[in-house]
Amino acid sequence: MSKLKIAIQKSGRLSEKSINILKECGIKLPNGISKLKTAATNFPIEILFLRDDDIPQYVEQGVADIGILGENEVYEKNKKVAVIEKLGFANCRLSLAIPKEDQYLNLEYFNNKRIATSYPKILSDFLNKNNISASVEEIGGSVEIAPGIGLADAICDIVSSGSTLLTNGLKEVETILQSEAVIISSKNLTEAKEAILNQLLFRIKSVRDASANKYILLNAPNSAIKDICKILPGMKSPTVLPLAEESWSSLHSVVREDDFWNIIAQLKNLGAQGILVSPIEKMIL
Ligand code: ATP
Ligand code: MG
Repeated sequence: MSKLKIAIQKSGRLSEKSINILKECGIKLPNGISKLKTAATNFPIEILFLRDDDIPQYVEQGVADIGILGENEVYEKNKKVAVIEKLGFANCRLSLAIPKEDQYLNLEYFNNKRIATSYPKILSDFLNKNNISASVEEIGGSVEIAPGIGLADAICDIVSSGSTLLTNGLKEVETILQSEAVIISSKNLTEAKEAILNQLLFRIKSVRDASANKYILLNAPNSAIKDICKILPGMKSPTVLPLAEESWSSLHSVVREDDFWNIIAQLKNLGAQGILVSPIEKMIL
């Protein structure tokens, strides 16, 4: 039987979360993973552990069918692969940073400057698009130290909190790209592999929808139920059950994590009491 081959990062920021996503989808991996290649015990997939830089190429060539990696790496490598799902972790941005004492007005600052980066393609495209002529110095890592040692005037690198920039005397002045972990896929999967991929994507979506939502239970006077239903639409509509106490009901629904605090305040104003909120493990829409 054919198996879908998934490439994930061997060791680094994406490794644990990539494995966790598969586990949350109910996919069991054998203990003591050899860290080269392993097969799930209860789902037709095989996992290849690679450097994230190599994943786009392997997916393009069909050595792996799909891969999990940061969008930054996908766009830098520019291989013939399709981005098929965003995964909501490893959020970061690719930014330009300059010595913090320099004054910055606009992109023209970078004209005739040397910019160190591990993302020469994305940076060159960005500079060309904006008609800036700068020299791009490609370096493999520790880009943030380049200005301090006189290797470059500025850098283009991954930023999340910005603390690495600060400790190296740099300030972020432009964002080139927002990035998160995504799934990329080969453009020519067999029908059998496509079917496995669809099952996997279905599971991933259920897990992601569940973690973006909370299950909410509350008690409310019957007179407030109509208004509460308007702010708690739920999956179809809320469940309303009568309480033993007359003219009160219990209401069950689903609320988006993002809206949560805002909604709780409104519910209390409408007279809701005994509000309970719990996580949802899986959610099938
Ligand atoms: P490899 O050895 O596999 O080539 P790497 O050193 O290129 O690893 P990591 O540092 O593990 O890569 O980062 C992997 C990905 O995680 C990056 O390509 C980026 O998408 C994301 N990432 C990098 N830094 C951060 C950060 N500070 N916060 C959030 N996500 C980040
Ligand atoms: Mg890498």
